Amino acid sequence: MRISKMFFKTYKEDPQDAEIKSHKLMVRAGYIKKQTAGVYMFMPLGLRVLRKLCDVIREEMDNAGACEMQMTSLLPIETYSGRLEHFGSDMFRLQDRSGKEMCLGPSHEEVFTAVVKDAITSYKQLPQLLYQIQTKFRDEVRPRFGLMRGKEFLMKDAYSYDVDKAGLDKSYNLMAETYKRIFNRLGLKFVIVNADNGSMGGSASQEFMVKSSIGEDEIIVCDDCGYASNIEKAECVYTPKDVSSITKLEKKLQYTPNLKTISDLVEPLNKKESDMLKAVVYKVDDKKIVAAFVPGDREIEEIKLLRCLGGINIEMASPEDIESIGSVAGFVGAIGLKNCTVVADNSVKDMVNFIIGANKLDYHYENANLEDLHIDIFADIKKAKAGDICPNCGKVLQSIRGIEVGHIFKQNTKYTEAQQCKYLDVDGKSKYMEMGAYGIGVTRTMSAIIEQNSDDLGIILPDEIAPYKVEIVIANIKNEDQVVLAEKIYNDLLNKKVEVLLDDRQDAIGAKLKDAELIGVPYIVVVGKNTAEGKVELINRHNMARDIIDAKEIINKF
Ligand code: ATP
Ligand code: MG
Repeated sequence: MRISKMFFKTYKEDPQDAEIKSHKLMVRAGYIKKQTAGVYMFMPLGLRVLRKLCDVIREEMDNAGACEMQMTSLLPIETYSGRLEHFGSDMFRLQDRSGKEMCLGPSHEEVFTAVVKDAITSYKQLPQLLYQIQTKFRDEVRPRFGLMRGKEFLMKDAYSYDVDKAGLDKSYNLMAETYKRIFNRLGLKFVIVNADNGSMGGSASQEFMVKSSIGEDEIIVCDDCGYASNIEKAECVYTPKDVSSITKLEKKLQYTPNLKTISDLVEPLNKKESDMLKAVVYKVDDKKIVAAFVPGDREIEEIKLLRCLGGINIEMASPEDIESIGSVAGFVGAIGLKNCTVVADNSVKDMVNFIIGANKLDYHYENANLEDLHIDIFADIKKAKAGDICPNCGKVLQSIRGIEVGHIFKQNTKYTEAQQCKYLDVDGKSKYMEMGAYGIGVTRTMSAIIEQNSDDLGIILPDEIAPYKVEIVIANIKNEDQVVLAEKIYNDLLNKKVEVLLDDRQDAIGAKLKDAELIGVPYIVVVGKNTAEGKVELINRHNMARDIIDAKEIINKF
């Protein structure tokens, strides 16, 4: 392709609304253009990269025996009747001209299940592994970071249907392996994170996280044994400390006017945060009040708290709620609370002579001890952090950030039961299919790749998904010899089916080189001052190594 004939537009300045590298570079390189918040158009270069990314995914899915099809984005709202509350206002809803309620699909579990239910009746037709690469719509509260979190984005979603749990395990493992191959091929540094809701070691759900400082997810990892978990699910091991030698003191009421938080108390009381018992009061499932306690230097992990209570929804309690349990916001303690469930982290058992709210405005107790408290449940409710002990091997844990690019899930019979998606087993019995769901955020993956593969000059892409393999830059378009040589190389490469760009614009060499370095081509060939000797400069974009080589060698190289 000749740049002079192409829809080619790059930008010197970063877009004002862009906070992260990949977003800035994709806009500057003319890959994408913003339509409105969270909605992006693909320009020629970006579209080529996106298509190649899809090709890699498609090839690996096909190799795994998955069968590609295409559902619709426009769907009757009843499709999601079981999950309307779950999606809430994330779902784009609309009406057709007759007033029929419709929506734009945010995920397609129900749609595939309906299709499978219709066509598959016997164990002989199972397993099925189906997929599509299709645009999804979610009205995200905070669309940001360009393609990372969009309201319209491309997803590869796959669904497996099996006769039993053993079959589902097989399909799930196959997808896990396929995802590894895909992300490895894309040159991504990633970790697989256990997002299991049950205990450790389970594999009912795993997330593929690309390591990146701008990732929205915090991941707790162990470099020694490879343990990796979402912060929400990362386990804190409790090993009781021997505190028997510490003399327990008499608790006493302490006037602490306006000192409501742990950090407020540190200086006036001359104590460490870990000498205090932190309290947070929640409302669970809109009814139950829960007072949760952790050591003052730790945070509460609400998801773990919710899990130990078996609830669905958790929110902060209001000052009135706190009053209803016999306390005052800012001065809550686990002494004499009523009408609530009191949960404390396991590590609270090791605390001695600590400070705790006195359930009375402007007062705390000093030297409180376990015997003074009433705790209903001891559980692992504190947020894991770097420096904690690995639950798997006992070494020290690290905290890293990640971008969720893929998610695999054992759904079991959740959807198939809801939709009566059954088959006849070998013995003629009617049974629910065991289902798995597997997603890759294709456009988010594209961002993640660029986030990990770029430098100050621009985008550096693995050959397989680069928009073009080589760009030939004519240093001076008015120099006929240069033009002739560049055209020859260009045509030779085209004949060899190498994907090549020719920068034949009138612009100055500096500007053209800047563009070439920005747009993600792995190799740049400069036809310039060495033309008389039949030589060109070859720039390797990965390491910016520059070689003067014979023009004839270019053909062999590619
Ligand atoms: P997140 O926690 O980031 O909101 P999710 O759990 O809602 O993601 P899934 O429903 O599992 O996402 O969707 C499968 C994949 O689609 C995700 O792993 C992610 O890569 C991608 N994805 C989800 N939401 C978006 C979005 N708004 N923009 C771009 N990609 C997305
Ligand atoms: Mg997810």
